[in-house]
Amino acid sequence: MDDTRHGEGTRAVRAGLPEPRKYEPTLPGPVFAAHYHLPGEPTGPYTYGRDENPTWTRLEQAIGELEAPEEPDGVETVTFASGMAAISAVLFSQLKAGDAVVLPADGYQALPLVREQLEAYGIEVRTAPTGGDGQLTVLEGARLLWIETPSNPGLDVCDVRRLVRAAHAGGALVAVDNTLATPLGQRPLELGADFSVASDTKGMTGHGDILLGHVTCRDARLAASVRRWRKIVGAIPGPMEAWLAHRSLATLALRVDRQCANALALAEALDGRDDVTGLRYPGLPGDPSHTVAAGQMRRFGSVVSFVLPDRAWAERFLDALRLVDDATSFGGVRSTAERRARWGGDAVPEGFVRFSVGAEDTRDLVADVLRALDEAASAQPG
Ligand SMILES: *Cc1c(COP(=O)(O)O)cnc(C)c1O
Repeated sequence: MDDTRHGEGTRAVRAGLPEPRKYEPTLPGPVFAAHYHLPGEPTGPYTYGRDENPTWTRLEQAIGELEAPEEPDGVETVTFASGMAAISAVLFSQLKAGDAVVLPADGYQALPLVREQLEAYGIEVRTAPTGGDGQLTVLEGARLLWIETPSNPGLDVCDVRRLVRAAHAGGALVAVDNTLATPLGQRPLELGADFSVASDTKGMTGHGDILLGHVTCRDARLAASVRRWRKIVGAIPGPMEAWLAHRSLATLALRVDRQCANALALAEALDGRDDVTGLRYPGLPGDPSHTVAAGQMRRFGSVVSFVLPDRAWAERFLDALRLVDDATSFGGVRSTAERRARWGGDAVPEGFVRFSVGAEDTRDLVADVLRALDEAASAQPG
């Protein structure tokens, strides 16, 4: 679809669809093939299933239309078996022994493992917190700046344009983990980044039933190196997952609009309660991230975080919820919440709750949360 004047909902429902063909489904079904018959050219597309698959091609086209609606044919997208496969593809295809990379100190919880692996390969890893521009002080001589904004689970935000200017001035590439925002919330390539990377396991597909990831970039050489990495490690999406993801993109705008509206309503309802501290939602006008977020995001995401007085209090709250499952991950149509400290990987207080806001009716969801908070407070021992 090449009409860039359409709105985002229209783009989402039509993204990546082929020209209509009589008696064919609007979105052709998944292509299952290890090898293809009669490929013609030995080097052409669709010879071997680890290199290319028509179902990925359509999904990659669709994601490109959302990541770069002004010039979907000016970007390339490479899809992966998971978000971590996409992240590792960028890091390990771009960095070599002797290079330096800057990672977030407060990013996704598997990044410390990635750090160990990078260091084992002789790559210098520096870290900086997402908020506060600390990246600028450790950027000197780095080959790549990796940022995650908003960060998971802390919901801090960094100024992408500003960091990109500084990184590019020093010759560093910039990759943005855009998982939390999705391309409808933020378009990193338009903010100047070289790579927009995401776990599509989360809000992008939104039903909590597939793992998937992608990398989108403008520079064809960078895209080729990421694609080459996928071929080497073989972290390819299954055709069924890719097809389900493409089908799910049709409702992305609907889902994200409802989830963001619910998230703001929830944050507003929590704001000012005595039992809630450390409330974070980038869309809340009083949030420390709001000004920077408003300058680069078009929707503020579906995650709200806050702190209850202690571990037992947070557990009582989670137990009392009826419409919200106690589960990890985020971005799905069904609200989930979890006490993040149970994993031990994030630097968060015992009562820290990461709340993933779903697509329920706003009134029902807010009422359920407020009731559960009241129950948790009144069941306080002593
Ligand atoms: C979940 C997540 C990942 C990892 O994605 P998987 O699909 O689980 O591999 C990476 N970054 C962020 C910000 C995430 O939330």
